[in-house]
Amino acid sequence: MPGFELFGDLERAQVNDVLQSGVLMRYGFDSMRNGHYKALELETALSKKMDVDHVQLVSSGTAALTVALASAGIGAGDEVIMPTFTFVASFESILALGAIPILVDVDETLTLDPVAVEKAINHRTKVVMPVHMCGSMANLKELKVICDRHSLLLLEDACQAIGGTFEGKALGTYGDLGCFSFDYVKTITCGEGGAVVTNNEKFKINADRYSDHGHDHIGSDRGAEGHPFMGYNYRISELNAAVGLAQLKRLDDFIVIQKRNYTIIREALSKVEGITFRSVPEGGEESYAFLSFFMPDSEQAKKASDLLKKSGVDGCFYWYDNNWHYYRKWQHLSTKQSLTKLSFEVNELLPDYSEADFSKSDHWVGRNISCLIKLSWSENEVLERANKMVEVLSAIIR
Ligand SMILES: *Cc1c(COP(=O)(O)O)cnc(C)c1O
Repeated sequence: MPGFELFGDLERAQVNDVLQSGVLMRYGFDSMRNGHYKALELETALSKKMDVDHVQLVSSGTAALTVALASAGIGAGDEVIMPTFTFVASFESILALGAIPILVDVDETLTLDPVAVEKAINHRTKVVMPVHMCGSMANLKELKVICDRHSLLLLEDACQAIGGTFEGKALGTYGDLGCFSFDYVKTITCGEGGAVVTNNEKFKINADRYSDHGHDHIGSDRGAEGHPFMGYNYRISELNAAVGLAQLKRLDDFIVIQKRNYTIIREALSKVEGITFRSVPEGGEESYAFLSFFMPDSEQAKKASDLLKKSGVDGCFYWYDNNWHYYRKWQHLSTKQSLTKLSFEVNELLPDYSEADFSKSDHWVGRNISCLIKLSWSENEVLERANKMVEVLSAIIR
């Protein structure tokens, strides 16, 4: 990660197909487009790659989450369980529909803690939304059992974990719905883009319509289409989809490179006493987009993050202090700062998170360092990096 590191002729050729016809829109203009339907082609390619029945491309990962929720009928006052450690897009997409984000602790997997999930369920709960942060996954097997027991939907945010698997299935395809982002810093990129994946035909039809103003896409005359319900515009452009087609062809190679680089660094760090690694649920295979490990305590983790940076080891994140990825810095959510008036349901039901006790999350995220695994490193650069990290971390841990 990220895909923009390895970018070139394949992407240019795909984009040129679109530029030659000038048809930048995915729908219509059949006679002008020289047979190029890049968005449709990418949907077909993704569906084959992930072994999933349906794919709906949209304009971003955040849009994918919103469209996925809407496709399943989630709306005002419905509760969606999400982790304390994720990107802000998680609660943004939920609130966009007037639904309520319910924050829940993460455990040593750095994703949703199934025990905490079950405790948070009530009569308003509709969806459990694990986020496969930094290339590894939630315990999907346990979450699925809980969802089945309470008749809830399982929606996987796999935006940071494309290429990973659980019990042999592509991450994103284990639950009822899965979401991907192809923004500029993700493992494969479209510039901007996202996808909803599902085996549920009804959800696919809803997503297809909702992401394009409710158009039913029946017949070839756009002006004559019906509108079974109100939608919005979350469409992806042909230019973005064309880039994605080229990037998807590179995905397998990307995962091989990530795994090689990850393994070299992990083996080196394993020799440092006091360092432990993020736990990966049984049956899971990471995408190796990041290497995440724990320091003995939060003070040493903070120090490690500072000293790694100072010694030139870039791309290592101490998420606990990060502005975007951890609940402690989400004051705008806890104080309900909104540009516009919030709905009655959100005002009534959104919990006050300013005083919330997420000590379990603090215990794990407070000791965690996650290092981005780059694609462009030579083997020598990885070895140098690994040695430098061992040197810095050994000096801190006593
Ligand atoms: C990037 C990301 C998103 C949002 O994707 P965008 O395409 O940037 O809107 C959502 N969830 C997670 C976990 C992400 O990393």
